[in-house]
Amino acid sequence: MIAHHFTIDLEEYFQVSAFASRVARSEWRHLESRVVGEVTSLLELLARHEARATVFVLGWVAERQPELVRTIARAGHEIASHGWDHARVTDQTPPQVRQSIRRTKALLEEITGAPVLGFRAPSFSIVPGGEWALDILIEEGYRYDSSLFPVRRPGYGYPNGAPDPHWLERPAGRLAEIPPSTLQWCGLRLPAAGGAYFRLLPYDVVRAALRQCERRGVPGTFYIHPWELDPAQPRLAVSWLTRLRHYGGLRRTAQRLERLLAEFRFIAVRDTVAALSAAPAPRPAGAAGWPAAVTAP
Ligand SMILES: [Zn+2]
Repeated sequence: MIAHHFTIDLEEYFQVSAFASRVARSEWRHLESRVVGEVTSLLELLARHEARATVFVLGWVAERQPELVRTIARAGHEIASHGWDHARVTDQTPPQVRQSIRRTKALLEEITGAPVLGFRAPSFSIVPGGEWALDILIEEGYRYDSSLFPVRRPGYGYPNGAPDPHWLERPAGRLAEIPPSTLQWCGLRLPAAGGAYFRLLPYDVVRAALRQCERRGVPGTFYIHPWELDPAQPRLAVSWLTRLRHYGGLRRTAQRLERLLAEFRFIAVRDTVAALSAAPAPRPAGAAGWPAAVTAP
C-alpha cells in the first residue's frame, strides 16, 4: 500500500496571498489569532487516523506560537518551512528570499531541536524563471522543495514540472522535489491536490488523483490550511471570486478529511526523501522501481 503525503501550510486566515491587498502586514499583529484552535482540531483528526503530516510553518507564526510548533512536532509530525512572512518568491529579490528561508529554518530548528529539511513557497510561487530560489534552498541546507505545482494557473504554476517526486539537479547541487498532486484527465493535467480544490470540487477528484499516483507506484501530495477547518473565522471584505475560493465549502472540510484519512495512509515527506536518498541513483520522474521503503506497508 502506497503511503501519501498529508501536508499543512500553517498560517493565519488573514495571511493568504489573495488578501494581501486588503490586509497590510503591519496590521497582522492586531488581528485575532486562530491557529491554535484550528491546528488542535487538525491534530486530533490526524491522531484518530494514525496519520503523519508535514507542516510547512510560517516563521511569523512560529515566533508568536512556539508552543504550538513544539506540540505538532511532539505528536510525531514533520516541521518544515513556509518562509517568514508569506511574501511570494516572485515579489522578492534573491537576498530577500535567502533571508526569509534562513531566518525561518533557524527559528524552527531552535524551537524543535530537529533539522528542517523542507520548504514550500507561499502560493507555490517558484515559477519558470524563478529557479534561482531552488539554488538558494540548497545553499541554505534544505533537502527538498514542495513548491513546483505542475499546472498552468494565473499567478502560479510550473507547467513543465514533473508530477511525481523527483530529483532536481541544480548548479548548487541536488534537491528533491515533492510536487502537489495533479489529476490526469482527458489529456489535461489538473490541480487536485487539496485546498480550494478539495473543498469546492467533488471529493472524488482528490481521491482519483491519489489513486492515479498509486497506479504509478508513487506517493501523492495533499495540502490543506488550518483556516480551511474554521467556518467561524472572521470574514474579510473581498471580491466575490476570492470569497468563493476562501470561504466556499469550509463546513465540508472536516468531514471530507475524515474520509480521506480513512481511505488513504499518510506519512511525512521526510520519510520519502530519506528513501529517495537511500536509492542507488537519482531517479527520473515517475520511474518504475520506486524505493521499497516508500511503498512498503
Ligand atoms: Zn501559504
